[in-house]
Amino acid sequence: MADTAQAITEDEFRAEALAFLEANAKPKPEEKLVFGEGSDEVSVLPERTPEQDAREVKAAKVWAQQVFDAGFGWITGPTEYGGRGLPASYQRIYQSVESKFNTASQSPRMIGLGMIAPTILAHGTEPVKQAYLQKLWRGEIIACQLFSEPSNGSDLAGVQTRAILDGDEWILNGQKVWTSGAHYSDIGEIICRTDPDLPKHQGLSAFVVNMKAPGVEVRPLRQMTGGASFNEVFFTDVRVPADHLLGDVNSGWTVALTTLMNERAAIGGGGAAGGSGASNRLLDLMRHLGATTNPLIRQEYANLYINLQVARWNSERAMSKIRAGQLPGPELSIGKLSLTENMRRTAELAAHVLGPRITADSGEWGTYGWSQFVLGVPGMRVAGGTDEVMRNILAERVLGLPKEPSGKS
Ligand SMILES: Cc1cc2nc3c(=O)[nH]c(=O)nc-3n(C[C@H](O)[C@H](O)[C@H](O)COP(=O)(O)OP(=O)(O)OC[C@H]3O[C@@H](n4cnc5c(N)ncnc54)[C@H](O)[C@@H]3O)c2cc1C
Repeated sequence: MADTAQAITEDEFRAEALAFLEANAKPKPEEKLVFGEGSDEVSVLPERTPEQDAREVKAAKVWAQQVFDAGFGWITGPTEYGGRGLPASYQRIYQSVESKFNTASQSPRMIGLGMIAPTILAHGTEPVKQAYLQKLWRGEIIACQLFSEPSNGSDLAGVQTRAILDGDEWILNGQKVWTSGAHYSDIGEIICRTDPDLPKHQGLSAFVVNMKAPGVEVRPLRQMTGGASFNEVFFTDVRVPADHLLGDVNSGWTVALTTLMNERAAIGGGGAAGGSGASNRLLDLMRHLGATTNPLIRQEYANLYINLQVARWNSERAMSKIRAGQLPGPELSIGKLSLTENMRRTAELAAHVLGPRITADSGEWGTYGWSQFVLGVPGMRVAGGTDEVMRNILAERVLGLPKEPSGKS
């Protein structure tokens, strides 16, 4: 467990990972898409009952603890916080070996690990790093992102939730919204206004808040797909210890950028594959319905296929920059846009092919199941920075077009 990069070779590490997985998980059978067999669910945001959510969270935590205790839970993390201190190539080896096995979905932990843990590592105080990093990576706790508010989403610098210092505690009051997974999270990263007299980007601070603290109220929000994967969160006189500040007082904007950069890497970096699983299902559906001989539909599918391919190459470009230790910038915004555009193309073509079958559940396999996907796609155009905001970033930073008025006051 305490090996350093030099103490274990990649081959030894691969063998160790394989031995662990062979002993603790079942190999994944080769996935073969057979129309009419298995689940016909095609969705973007999972539709779960609270009981299903609780089961998924529990299974994710149990597997995370097994993986962590075997030394594969935080492969690249600093050893002083419970990581293994190995280079990213070892992480990729583990992922590649694990992908051949059936393991519990880790999606409830993704925001915490992909966005909040890196922010804590970069900006947290020593006690906060010691208190939360290992617990997050070991799956003992889950974290959420408390940024958006009812009147401040894209304009994050305008947040209104107030934090006021009272002795050695901050007191939080306000409301957040669209908080994914707040209902099963133990901690959250919250952006608050700490100085209303400073220009809006400069009067913000970031904190780690205990989601179980008195005064935190989580209310589910039902989305048009029927599920309730995100929430409103109300804060009434919630007390946060002073050492739970991330970064300096009034430097919350910088902290938020760290989180958002990681969010775009998580969404935009995977943009290539985004929708490709659904596009394979769509091809299968088209074949089943005899739609592949329709020249218009063939043309639409070819367009989708080409765009998926381009997105895959863009994602490769971003990933190779990350591997080389560089920060991908525009590639992530392009990746995020490609992801949502390809999902939109997939959804529109599915609706075109299915016609009225997509509007009512007749019990016919593989038809109405697509409605979840079609209704879930608009959310992806908004989550993690809207399409319009991504276009602004590309226009200003890549094409060098004039900046839009920033609204900084
Ligand atoms: C599935 C999903 C999960 C989410 N999870 C979380 C979460 O866990 N935590 C969290 O904090 N938030 C979360 N969000 C919220 C998300 O970050 C915001 O919805 C997003 O930032 C947009 O903010 P808004 O909804 O206030 O829309 P607004 O910012 O009000 O935008 C409304 C419209 O105006 C456009 N617009 C806004 N500003 C500009 C501009 N400068 N130029 C051009 N057009 C502009 C937008 O593109 C959009 O079309 C989630 C959202 C979704 C859909």
